[in-house]
Amino acid sequence: MAAKTKFQAIRGTRDLLPPETALWNHVEWTAHEVFGTFGFGEIRPPIFEPTELFARSIGLETDVVSKEMYTFRDPTEELDKILIDVLRFAEEKGITFGFGSDNVETPAKVQRILSEQPLLQSESVTLRPEATASVCRAYIEHGMQQLPQPVKLYYMGPMFRRERPQKGRYRQFYQIGAEVLGGGDAPAIDAEVIEMVMTFFDKLGLTGVELDINSIGHNAPDCRPAYIEKLRAALEQVKDQLGADSQHRIETNPLRVLDSKLEHEQAIIATLPRIADHLCPDCAAHYAAVKRQLEMRGVFFKENWRLVRGLDYYMRTTFEITAKGLGSQNAVCGGGRYDGLVELLGGPPTKGIGFAIGEDRLILSLQESGKGAAPQGRDIYIAWMGERAYATAVRAAKDLRNSGFSVELPPTELKFGKALERADKLGSRYALILGDNEVSEGSWTLKTLVDGTQQKFTEPELLEFLKQRKSGS
Ligand code: AMP
Repeated sequence: MAAKTKFQAIRGTRDLLPPETALWNHVEWTAHEVFGTFGFGEIRPPIFEPTELFARSIGLETDVVSKEMYTFRDPTEELDKILIDVLRFAEEKGITFGFGSDNVETPAKVQRILSEQPLLQSESVTLRPEATASVCRAYIEHGMQQLPQPVKLYYMGPMFRRERPQKGRYRQFYQIGAEVLGGGDAPAIDAEVIEMVMTFFDKLGLTGVELDINSIGHNAPDCRPAYIEKLRAALEQVKDQLGADSQHRIETNPLRVLDSKLEHEQAIIATLPRIADHLCPDCAAHYAAVKRQLEMRGVFFKENWRLVRGLDYYMRTTFEITAKGLGSQNAVCGGGRYDGLVELLGGPPTKGIGFAIGEDRLILSLQESGKGAAPQGRDIYIAWMGERAYATAVRAAKDLRNSGFSVELPPTELKFGKALERADKLGSRYALILGDNEVSEGSWTLKTLVDGTQQKFTEPELLEFLKQRKSGS
């Protein structure tokens, strides 16, 4: 007999359950609604893509690509099928395979040898760790540069990263994000994208929201690269006082030293040169205009010179939004401009800006501030007894559900006392009592469960009464 296995969700993944899923739905509907009012349309890219897409767009040196991706080889099916058919045929006929002069192998052994060489027969695919790369791939693949520009797209769904799980950090987590592709890099585009996220958070009643912005210039010699050299020189001066990670980054990616959360490095970092003072005139003007545009829209922000991205195609505007109640993982949204990305992926030169909201953290923050979903009870529990009453109850349930009420119809007969007890436990608002007497008299009893009051109605009166209560409450 097989041993009993107790299955559990894999570490870093979890089940989202009612009533919490009602809050997830509310958040997602609000996103559809708000993003729609800004003229964005939804894109649903696949959940896995060629590994190369992420390696190229996110960068080989990032933690995401180097350590955290769920990557596997996907055998190309046709080749595999043919091969297996050939080997099966050989097995049946007792054919063996010779390698060299005296190295004779059975078909089963050949299959094993081939399966150990996955590169020959399979391609590497990865569960998406984020969706920006997929959206850019789709933009190129579907020739969206032919559409009126810019193209404004949003998405929502699960992402996968093999991170160390903790509060607000999961291996399967959910993002809601948007991208604006093509059509120039007017500062108004940056400001409107940020305004859209803030409007969304506002609609949800998210509290303690703080928006940080920065500009990281662009990749021309007189702009970011010149700054990076200054930064590197300044870091060399204080190298001995930095931890091993930061010391390493002086060489590989000095901007990332600014991300450091190490307590003892903070005072040192505060003395380093700041990028805003080293932007080229165009980038400085763009940054100033984005700030003006945010002010025009009544969006409050804080400048944070340490908000940087370590990849070349990121440029100019970067932003991050934090919210209350999340501890150390308090970033709910990260975004920025990435004008070189579409081209890097093989498309035409295309401006781009976008953001990704961590939906898990957004939900956590809403729950912490008391905006979680209340358990949802049924509107109506139908307590029925008797054959004739049951037929009527089935019909009543259908009519009430068609009118939008949530109805619980017990599948087997219960004594009225027991049925009312169940109705109570389910948090039902009303119990509709249907016995054979009620049915033959055409007079139905509706019990309001909070106060125990009862009223009698004819069938049409009842529906009318419930509808009025629903719209009135
Ligand atoms: P990123 O794509 O890394 O810029 O992340 C954007 C947002 O996604 C972050 O601000 C977080 O809110 C969220 N996020 C990123 N990684 C995780 C994770 N492992 N678990 C939960 N949320 C995450």
